[in-house]
Amino acid sequence: MNRPTIDWHARAAEVRPDGRCFIDGQRRDAASGETTVKRSPVDGRLLGAVARGQAADVDAAVRSARAAFDDRRWARQPPAARKKVLLRFAELVLAAREELALLETLDMGKPIAHALTVDVPATARCIAWYAEALDKRYDEIAPTAETGLALITREPVGVVGAIVPWNYPMIMAAWKIAPALAMGNSLVLKPSEKSPFTALRLAELALQAGLPAGVFNVVPGHGAEAGEALALHMDVDAIGFTGSTRTGRRMLEYAGRSNLKRVFNELGGKSAFLVFPDCADLARAAATAAGSMYFNQGESCNAPSRVLVHEAIADQFAALLAAQAPRYAPGDPLAPGTAMGAIVDEQQLRTVLGYIQAGQEQGARLLAGGRQVRLDSGGYYVEPTLFDGVHSSMRIAQEEIFGPVQAVLRFRDEAEAVRLANDTPYGLQASVWSDHLSRAHRVARALRAGTVHVNQYDEDDITVPFGGFKQSGNGRDKSMHAFDKYTELKTTWVRI
Ligand code: NAD
Repeated sequence: MNRPTIDWHARAAEVRPDGRCFIDGQRRDAASGETTVKRSPVDGRLLGAVARGQAADVDAAVRSARAAFDDRRWARQPPAARKKVLLRFAELVLAAREELALLETLDMGKPIAHALTVDVPATARCIAWYAEALDKRYDEIAPTAETGLALITREPVGVVGAIVPWNYPMIMAAWKIAPALAMGNSLVLKPSEKSPFTALRLAELALQAGLPAGVFNVVPGHGAEAGEALALHMDVDAIGFTGSTRTGRRMLEYAGRSNLKRVFNELGGKSAFLVFPDCADLARAAATAAGSMYFNQGESCNAPSRVLVHEAIADQFAALLAAQAPRYAPGDPLAPGTAMGAIVDEQQLRTVLGYIQAGQEQGARLLAGGRQVRLDSGGYYVEPTLFDGVHSSMRIAQEEIFGPVQAVLRFRDEAEAVRLANDTPYGLQASVWSDHLSRAHRVARALRAGTVHVNQYDEDDITVPFGGFKQSGNGRDKSMHAFDKYTELKTTWVRI
């Protein structure tokens, strides 16, 4: 039986999100009473007022998290009990699937179909996976002399500050929240000022699932206010940050200026997609490069924004890419069939259009797109855009655009391909397309990136670590490795 089609516009008209802080299990206004008006990038509609959290609110949230940590109301619960609460939390996320998906779409502009099929399920899966993992992790005993016993155990780090971006608001939050809570920490989450609503709902759902009040707090606000106050706070033990490399650098400075808190940075990218002449299926390679680029309006840290193609097949491949671009023409994010939605706000729209102009001014050749799209309903939209003839020194090849703009660069041989791929400050992801087994492995090994795909892209799973080399960061989200960020190693020597 087919499910009735949902009228997302009618539902959207009813949405009245609560933008107040969530501290100690309760909603409250910012201490200053100040709010920021949040409009939707979909069509400019008013979504609501969001508390403008500042140092006093962050301090209240950190105190609440500290009290919850110190009295061990969460950490002391047996693993089976914590697991039960987190599994319930994941169930509640899935039960609120339509509400959360709609909120995500209205807040940051992605197509509702993607929010429903990617963002909500991935958020729930992440929480459930860490719930399942928490009682399957054992500690160690070191191989010491018989007279001594050295236990190497992991303890929660304490109060974790999580600061996340706007491009996947729920998933990015879940990648921090789930492993941190699983290990018994308390948390203060600062969502992006551009997309604060789903993070606030997640905290309510966690409370409803049985997480004790005070363990998970959310303070919305601006980066330079709430974000800075959290990163500078003397009673925060670790910062799990996802965002731009520029802000990541600040996180390290804040830690140096305050209590040397641990900083785990997940930062920007300029990922390379390398296509060799021995790639047997160029059509699939082009479809994958375009699909991964334009998904989420190109607002993905791992978007394959640089396509590196061997000169012998470059014209053919660029034509295949250009033919793909129109399939991602932007449209109404609330319409179920839309492939690409709205850019998050006017500022980001201006940034993306500025890069398109820079590409043209620096001599790159526009093969597809390049213009703003004006829908009758308003909002911020850009055509899927493809440049050919790009040189590695151009701004569109070096800087993270964070919009639907892809650049084609040409190479002569394998050594040049590797050199170009590694020729940015970033090292998040890469992809190698070749049916020559040795070449694929050789190139994958030479690429300075946290994840390398071979003959695929965007294959993603909670079981594998996600993070970058170089200026793409130093931490790893997802997988068992994320536990490293939210635990301290302790050695206990016992004389026997
Ligand atoms: P951003 O750095 O501007 O902001 C990220 C977060 O930091 C926001 O919550 C913001 O309010 C806060 N912030 C900003 N300035 C701050 C300051 N001075 N002090 C404290 N907090 C501050 O990044 P963005 O525009 O929200 O997100 C896009 C970036 O995130 C891109 O560079 C993208 O590549 C990166 N990203 C990385 C990953 C990853 O896993 N590596 C995933 C998603 C996004």
